[in-house]
Amino acid sequence: MTKLCIVSPCYNEEAVLNEAASKLTVLFNQLISRQKISPDSFILYVNDGSRDRTWQIIQELHRSNPFVCGLNLAHNVGHQNAIMAGMMTARHHADAVITIDADLQDDITAIEQMVDKFAEGNDIVYGVKVSRQGDSFAKRTTAKMFYRLQESMGVKSVYNHADFRLMSKRALNALSLYKERNLYLRGLVPMLGFPSDTVPDIISPRFAGESKYTLGKMLNLATDGITSFSTKPISLITSLGLLGLVVSFFVLIYILVSWATGHVVSGWSSIMLSLWFIGSALLLSIGIVGQYIGKIYIEVKQRPLYTVEEYLGVDAVPQQK
Ligand code: UDP
Ligand code: MG
Repeated sequence: MTKLCIVSPCYNEEAVLNEAASKLTVLFNQLISRQKISPDSFILYVNDGSRDRTWQIIQELHRSNPFVCGLNLAHNVGHQNAIMAGMMTARHHADAVITIDADLQDDITAIEQMVDKFAEGNDIVYGVKVSRQGDSFAKRTTAKMFYRLQESMGVKSVYNHADFRLMSKRALNALSLYKERNLYLRGLVPMLGFPSDTVPDIISPRFAGESKYTLGKMLNLATDGITSFSTKPISLITSLGLLGLVVSFFVLIYILVSWATGHVVSGWSSIMLSLWFIGSALLLSIGIVGQYIGKIYIEVKQRPLYTVEEYLGVDAVPQQK
């Protein structure tokens, strides 16, 4: 039986916590009676530096509800880091960890399917949004545009998956080796490469409270989603510089012809030519410098080069457990 931990990040979530915890408790009791998860499974609420009564509520829940545990972060570090804190704590005490937002906008009936897929041997199970009716029109369309942009920049991620997913202890141990600070879990987790599957996730509207994802936080996440995985924007500058050089060659011909036929004001030719030439030479040089910065950027992250899935050998090294 799987010892499950559900990790939920909370930032100013006093309006939703009690109801969300009781929904998860009902679910836990069902899954325990169906022998899908072990009775010592637990819910880990991560308080991400809330300024309201969130932590007090988590403490009260911990006293009254045997499933509820809490992790209190010293200050607000944002959704991605809060999830990471919860997962890195939970991996030592559970076989599998599911991350879900505290507002339970994701479909909690998918949790049972995630546990089933884990029992079938998957290390990662992604909740994939099949219906986003619960999200606003603006959110749906900007999300779609973002996924397209990300794809064109060569970033691999699971389409329409946010951070509702199950990860095994072994996948979390592998994730712990990624030391980067600009976390974008949706991009990192697929890089681990363990057996994975998806389950459908129907998004409902928030039942209480307001969205804690401000426009600024969302834009930061979107920027990390591209710049933490791709140096294509730098390559684009280089290509633009090269293109400019080609154009400046044609401009040269045009200028020479105009000059030879005498259709020019004096001084025009040299100014026109230097404008195009110097402009594109600058762009190209910035691009080349950028290529090196891009390489440095990738190197300083010190991401692991590979993830070992299994080792069958004579001197078996201890498995990451
Ligand atoms: N959250 C967090 N830290 C933050 C912002 C949000 O831990 O700085 C949590 C929040 O409490 C919720 C989850 O991240 O559990 C998703 O936030 P929200 O539901 O407000 O975002 P939306 O669903 O509107 O995108
Ligand atoms: Mg939400």
